[in-house]
Amino acid sequence: MGAVRAVEPLHLRLLRLLRDNGAVSRAELADRLEMPRPRLLAELERLVSLGYVAEAGLAASRGGRRSTLVELSPNLRFAAVDLGASSIDVEIVNGRLEPVVAYAEPADIRSGPKGTLLRVNELLHKAKVDGAYERLDAVGIGVPGPVSFRDGVPVSPPIMPGWDRFPVRELLTREHGCPAVVDNDVNIMAIGERHGGVAHSVDDFLFVKIGTGVGCGIYLGGEVYRGTDGCAGDIGHIQVDSHGPMCSCGNVGCLEALFSGAAIAKDATAAARAGGSPALAERLAANGSVTAVDVAEGAIEGDVVCIRLIRDGGRRVGGVLAGLVSFANPSMIVIGGGLAQLGHILLAEIRSVVYRRSLPLATGNLPVVLSELGSRAGVTGAAVLASDMAFMEAS
Ligand SMILES: [Zn+2]
Repeated sequence: MGAVRAVEPLHLRLLRLLRDNGAVSRAELADRLEMPRPRLLAELERLVSLGYVAEAGLAASRGGRRSTLVELSPNLRFAAVDLGASSIDVEIVNGRLEPVVAYAEPADIRSGPKGTLLRVNELLHKAKVDGAYERLDAVGIGVPGPVSFRDGVPVSPPIMPGWDRFPVRELLTREHGCPAVVDNDVNIMAIGERHGGVAHSVDDFLFVKIGTGVGCGIYLGGEVYRGTDGCAGDIGHIQVDSHGPMCSCGNVGCLEALFSGAAIAKDATAAARAGGSPALAERLAANGSVTAVDVAEGAIEGDVVCIRLIRDGGRRVGGVLAGLVSFANPSMIVIGGGLAQLGHILLAEIRSVVYRRSLPLATGNLPVVLSELGSRAGVTGAAVLASDMAFMEAS
């Protein structure tokens, strides 16, 4: 798959292979890991005794002696948490990262780390009481801001007052007695989409989240690129209009000040009041406010103003992405987050700008597609990170 990576330890490669493929015979494992059989068998025995791997019966006969299957222990459990600006998503998954139980509820990240993490812990304990697990092997969590991946803390997150350097990883490790890993919300979405979505096995792609804010997960050479301080991909604050509106970051004309959940709600409300859009005026009168969902619905009904709002936004995003494509030469762009529901009008506009403005060589075969996992991308990626963390500890 292209990228040359540092040699990963055998136990990590073995456990990942079982995670991603299910039960595998000893013979096939030896082949796929290019490992002498005695060494593999010794490693398997060690992982069985540690409780990571279990016997899974006999493989179908290939003639001769039948090989026995091994799989990840059915008792493995990981907690995956995706904190958004206004939501908490929690899943408990098994070793193959299949959900055992899932909870989603609204929350306000601005209420601070103590209350938010208390609620996360309550949900995890509820899952335990409900029988989803006896003990957790690792917790993975994504937060909507820059993160020091090494230290397991958010770093100066603009929309998360009180969270700066709050010891998120330490608190979760202490509470659940297992390793924990903290990452940025867009990075975990990229990792999720790479594991089980449209970017499956793609080593170089950009995952663009358009939601309350705008951010980009940069997946290059088979890994997420996080940057020196953990804020790589913070594309929402690239300036696209030097005369544009004020942004929450204090600058003027940032991408997310012009196109994001908050920006499109503001523009749609103004359009509804100005009287140019029957679809939005009707919804404003009925609900007292309009949101991106109203714009999406209006566009489907053919409302000209709604279509224009989405096209304008797509053009802004496309302009920024065109620069990123020339810079990083990805082989795919995935669009996710709440505003991905603006769907094909948005996608068409982004595509047209990216294809027109990037170097032809870089866009010759560049799919620009919607996320396949949707709202599950984040928890899926958090589960991948949690399992990697637990597997590393099996050394
Ligand atoms: Zn900004």
